[in-house]
Amino acid sequence: MKKIGVLALQGAFVEHIQFLRKLDVEALPVRLPQELEGLDGLVIPGGESTAIAKLMQSYNLTKTIQELVSCGLPVFGTCAGMILLSKSASQLNSERIGAIDIEVTRNAFGRQIDSFETDIPIPSLGKRAFHAVFIRAPLITKTGPGVEILARLEDGVSVAARQGKVVVCAFHPELTDDVRFHRYFLEILAG
Ligand code: GLN
Repeated sequence: MKKIGVLALQGAFVEHIQFLRKLDVEALPVRLPQELEGLDGLVIPGGESTAIAKLMQSYNLTKTIQELVSCGLPVFGTCAGMILLSKSASQLNSERIGAIDIEVTRNAFGRQIDSFETDIPIPSLGKRAFHAVFIRAPLITKTGPGVEILARLEDGVSVAARQGKVVVCAFHPELTDDVRFHRYFLEILAG
């Protein structure tokens, strides 16, 4: 059985763990560097990217995660997780993992009250639209070579991307009952 770690410092980590357990994988919370050992994949959940970045520093996780990801550990970041995996993000000075060549704008849709849900096409997940939940979400403003855009909003704005074994989305698939995005990550991980 595949072993997937979920960074469990702040944010929606419980939801990801419960969600992954529905998919017949072992899902484990990660709070310390030694808990990263032997994982087949890692999820960075949504939450508050500034808080998660600070906690990652205090627990000596940033460097270790960077090393593992550069050695090919598949990683899936949702919302704040996407921000932490991006090479560059607005208003975030703390060190991030920086594993995918995208630039993101934080809180791009406004405040909590401007959070929204919408159905978007994600061709890699099949024909049926995906119900995407955006909570104070970021958006992708620039992508480097080798980055594939997986999803866009109706106005063309990019909200999900992949570069090699790094997958990110601006929304929260773990808050729906649609397992296709997590399954897509597990397929990448299975090689
Ligand atoms: N607004 C948060 C941030 O900038 C992200 C919100 C989320 O993860 N739902 O970190």
